Amino acid sequence: MSDFFTANISDADPLISNAIDSEVRRQADGLELIASENFVSEAVLQTMGTVFTNKYAEGYPGKRYYGGCEFSDVVEQAAIDRAKEIFGAEHANVQPHSGAQANMSVFLAAINHGDTILGMNLSHGGHLTHGHPLNFSGINFKVADYGVNRETEQIDYDELQRIAEESRPALLICGASAYPRIIDFERIGEIARSVGAKVMADIAHIAGLVAAGLHPTPIPHCEFVTTTTHKTLRGPRGGLILCKEEFAKDVDRAVFPGVQGGPLIHIIAAKAVAFGEALQPNFKEYQQQVVTNAKVLAETLANAGLRIVSGGTDNHLMLVDVWMDGKGITGKDAEKALEQVHITVNKNTIPFDTQKPFVASGIRIGTPALTTRGMKEEEMRSIGTIIAEVIQAPGSEEAMSKARREVAEITSRFPLYSQRYKTDSTGTANA
Ligand SMILES: *Cc1c(COP(=O)(O)O)cnc(C)c1O
Repeated sequence: MSDFFTANISDADPLISNAIDSEVRRQADGLELIASENFVSEAVLQTMGTVFTNKYAEGYPGKRYYGGCEFSDVVEQAAIDRAKEIFGAEHANVQPHSGAQANMSVFLAAINHGDTILGMNLSHGGHLTHGHPLNFSGINFKVADYGVNRETEQIDYDELQRIAEESRPALLICGASAYPRIIDFERIGEIARSVGAKVMADIAHIAGLVAAGLHPTPIPHCEFVTTTTHKTLRGPRGGLILCKEEFAKDVDRAVFPGVQGGPLIHIIAAKAVAFGEALQPNFKEYQQQVVTNAKVLAETLANAGLRIVSGGTDNHLMLVDVWMDGKGITGKDAEKALEQVHITVNKNTIPFDTQKPFVASGIRIGTPALTTRGMKEEEMRSIGTIIAEVIQAPGSEEAMSKARREVAEITSRFPLYSQRYKTDSTGTANA
């Protein structure tokens, strides 16, 4: 091997090597309940670390701007074909580097600078890219927003119809980052057509559930569907756009050269592997368990006296009101207390929150990651009880050390990655 190569990360770069090793341990020793996170398979991990990272492949399979793309074409075409099969879509673009890039590309393909977009309010569950003033979406477009009903804490479709008629958007955006209920894509499609708007469904969070048929699909009702590949879909970090054939050229042009340069072929290869996994029969079992686990966890927390926003969950996540009008603690304090016992969640505003976003009244909890580790109903009951005890006994060192012991007991029964990802035998991390 050439002298310009360093073969082993633990010899070449102890700082980064030790950080990788510590992160491997952190992921294994904690309970990961961040709703947007998951653990990819070792096949996906392996694929990301391949020599495809060396390749420039601007363009699309069969139409590249560089030579030497024959194997890049194989992996990208496989990713495209599998994505179309999973979702029953007419066209797929697998190149977006992230969910945000996927959304940016759709804006570029679908509407013009200065047009009006109508998206879900961030504090009611929407995403930054759906019109936040500091995001490209809020900077380049006029923004109108809709939210949830104060009583039901669920999307009020009659109100959405009214707002759509008033704001006349060019693009109606649905999909959310913190919404625990089924989204009625059919109804949203009807609302959009009644005002002459196109629809983008951003299923970043629920893509795995949609793939498994556990959440109604937006495909027949929406011109554009975007998603991340790393949340419930359990692939590498990245984005994906699905659309009808009539928009295929516009979408492909918007991604490249509109928004991005060279595609990340090593990541696209890993997307293909993850999509292959999503086509296996046990993927549906996995998603079913994600949903069952979320229901059991929400019930356990509610029975322990915490308030579940909208009264429950239909998907992989729940919003828990831990402040409860001053009877409890803030979301910020709950996140910190849980972190001290190695349970990872994020603080989250609840609809009509009286706290600032950085403090928040709630926490968001999701079950995709722990379900990947193999945890089921019994563990959800134990974990729900631990969470409630920590939140309800703020500052009690006794409660905290009991919780830490119980978390360690649970994680020890569900090992995460095999030994090759924990030692320096592959150079992935040192001992
Ligand atoms: C996570 C998320 C995104 C953005 O994904 P990134 O890969 O972080 O850019 C977009 N939309 C929604 C609804 C999300 O939840």
